[in-house]
Amino acid sequence: MEPTTEKPQENPSMPQDPNAPPPYPSTAFAAPPQPVAYTSQPTAINVMHTPVIATPIFRDIPVRTSCANCRSDIVTRTEFEVGSMVWISCFVAVIFGLWLGCCLIPFCIPALKDVVHYCPNCNNVCGKFVRLH
Ligand SMILES: [Zn+2]
Repeated sequence: MEPTTEKPQENPSMPQDPNAPPPYPSTAFAAPPQPVAYTSQPTAINVMHTPVIATPIFRDIPVRTSCANCRSDIVTRTEFEVGSMVWISCFVAVIFGLWLGCCLIPFCIPALKDVVHYCPNCNNVCGKFVRLH
């Protein structure tokens, strides 16, 4: 009578082979990076910030420009007009005690006034220099 040897369980059907490939191939998770569809837009976007026609900067002196009305190359005729800068200076003068007519001094100072540029040919207003926006 052969003794039934109680061997430790050896299941040959499921070998724990360390070299065996994992049940799920790694490529199933680590998918290759999808090629990014480069939507290159060859249309130039940065065209807007460079105007073709340079508009003159209207300051307190006559500028050379082309009149939009009569389309002639002119040097503008400037006229000073009372703007917000004059009124603010007037109020500041009143606050500081200059209220016996002295607060009207800013109305006589062209450096505080806005400047309107007229066309000398057709009197069209070509531009305006506002000191305080
Ligand atoms: Zn004109």
